[in-house]
Amino acid sequence: MSENNQHRARKRFGQNFLHDAGVIHRIMRAIHAQPGERLLEIGPGQGALTGDLLSSGAQLDVIEIDRDLVAMLNHQFANNPAFHMNQGDALKFDFNSLNPAPRSLRVVGNLPYNISTPLIFHLLANAGVIRDMHFMLQKEVVERLAATPGGGDWGRLSIMVQYHCRVEHLFNVGPGSFNPPPKVDSAIVRLTPHEVLPCPAKDHRLLERVVREAFNQRRKTLRNTLKALLSSAEIEACGVDGSLRPEQLDLAAFVRLADQLSQQASQQTSAS
Ligand code: SAM
Repeated sequence: MSENNQHRARKRFGQNFLHDAGVIHRIMRAIHAQPGERLLEIGPGQGALTGDLLSSGAQLDVIEIDRDLVAMLNHQFANNPAFHMNQGDALKFDFNSLNPAPRSLRVVGNLPYNISTPLIFHLLANAGVIRDMHFMLQKEVVERLAATPGGGDWGRLSIMVQYHCRVEHLFNVGPGSFNPPPKVDSAIVRLTPHEVLPCPAKDHRLLERVVREAFNQRRKTLRNTLKALLSSAEIEACGVDGSLRPEQLDLAAFVRLADQLSQQASQQTSAS
């Protein structure tokens, strides 16, 4: 038995190890890493993707939280000068510590499902240094990321991610491709930060606030959910029908609502 096979998967770290060579090959084809590129793998685990990522000739940083796996990965890859281990929690990792050039970092990961949403938000806060991201996620999360307005999947995650990135749902992966098999289906998604934001908000934090408030009670009308922030007249002034539900609004409409709030905030500041 190899050293890798002796590791018992830890549930608290969301460990479901990919063993399907066909899926690994499709992921590598989607990433298409080239010599000299900067890659960052989050949660390399037992190295299912790591060896192939290194074979591309790219520079590879990895972040792994599990000390036992860190030891195994170092044993396997540390003699390769293109490999660099960062032991710790990806949610706390400072991506600028890698000194990446703008839009250079290619992020890859079969992510632990319990931290995937906060991790994506943490990465988006550093979107300026990221060229693209390829993630294995719960299929349901990928459907929310790639959703369009009008359906039940459209919500805070879709809007805030699509504000920053182009989203491509590449392909689905069944539970049998992992060991142990997860209880849910998975999918591979590509997120590519926009070079120029298609719908820039005056204040990004106000966009987050409007979207959070609106979807807090997604069955209610906007007039109701947003009443602490905007009056009916202010909502209508943005060209938005206040009797709609939040899931019926596209990103551009949410940005208009956020900009209306920014305008109010600046009027209040100049009046005081
Ligand atoms: N990439 C491997 C594969 O495809 O087989 C492992 C994937 S497994 C779903 C998730 C990996 O992320 C595990 O190795 C786990 O230890 C690691 N991990 C979990 N939480 C983490 C965190 N907060 N920061 C960094 N790595 C983490």
